[in-house]
Amino acid sequence: MATSRVVPMKMTQMKAAQISKAGADFEIVEREIPTPDAGHVRIKVQACGVCHSDVLTKEGLWPGIQYPRVPGHEVAGIIDEVGPGVSAWKKGQRVGVGWHGGQDNTCRECRRGDFRNCQNLKVCGISYDGGYQQYMVAPVEALAAIPESLKDVDAAPLLCAGITTYNALRHSGALPGDLVAVQGIGGLGHLGIQFANKFGYKVAAVGRGPENAALATKLGASLYIDSQATNAAEELQKLGGAQVILATAPNSKAMSQLIDGLAPNGELMVIGAAFDPIEVMPIQLISGSKTIQGWAAGTPADSEDTMRFAELSGVRPMIETYPLERAAEAYARMMSGKAEFRVVLTL
Ligand SMILES: [Zn+2]
Ligand SMILES: [Zn+2]
Repeated sequence: MATSRVVPMKMTQMKAAQISKAGADFEIVEREIPTPDAGHVRIKVQACGVCHSDVLTKEGLWPGIQYPRVPGHEVAGIIDEVGPGVSAWKKGQRVGVGWHGGQDNTCRECRRGDFRNCQNLKVCGISYDGGYQQYMVAPVEALAAIPESLKDVDAAPLLCAGITTYNALRHSGALPGDLVAVQGIGGLGHLGIQFANKFGYKVAAVGRGPENAALATKLGASLYIDSQATNAAEELQKLGGAQVILATAPNSKAMSQLIDGLAPNGELMVIGAAFDPIEVMPIQLISGSKTIQGWAAGTPADSEDTMRFAELSGVRPMIETYPLERAAEAYARMMSGKAEFRVVLTL
């Protein structure tokens, strides 16, 4: 006798917010749920941050980017399926994917262990579809485990904005008790102030206008300098000069004006991505042996350090959430510069 079996209707479709060509608007589409290849996992996305660098996908500013493309490199979710050969990651595990979407393991930098600077670095949401969708596939090199107590919507921004500020500061050479200035109180800066405070620095927040003074103090700044009302570099010098200035707001002129606020051997650490030049006279750097350095995100291991530190210290992003269906609105809100401070899609 043949046994009859009820086959449940299989859900094979999902929703994604994609960009169909450079400069196009977001469109919400139905797609096949992807299957992970060898060395990959499928993630059921729970939250995805909307980062200013998503403009690279939206406007086609990344060389060689292919369309349609789903942006998103602040992904928090749950492993839903593992591909062949994956043993270190399990179904049901909470994971995140940030800017570092995988390395080739063969270039000169990778052979030296400097995966962050891989010459063929893959970027989630640019090299392959990112987190503006219900399910995504990622290579295991891109995965960071999310600590138990960290909510998905809080973990997501830590995977780009968080890791960038945390990693730049912890590699800056500033020691506990040093004066560290954080330029800009926005998506990066509001996290930078918190990390700098928890690292034991004396934190000077530098903003334009008086409106963020109270917030900066609440986030852990010892003092607030309004660069529109005073000469911020002089104010820093009155305090002995800053060992590190973490420049987060993409404003090259504001960065240039702060260089004279550095202490001897001080460093301007640049993470705010602007496209016009920082102006500095060689003599400004020579006297006092000052340096200017840039910093980009970090590896998934750095992401794990960032999230563990956030869990330990209570550092959290301030967020505004939007459902995936309103991705276009969420992106516009981020681009307006008015969001306080990170926009996160929820799924
Ligand atoms: Zn980003
Ligand atoms: Zn490489």
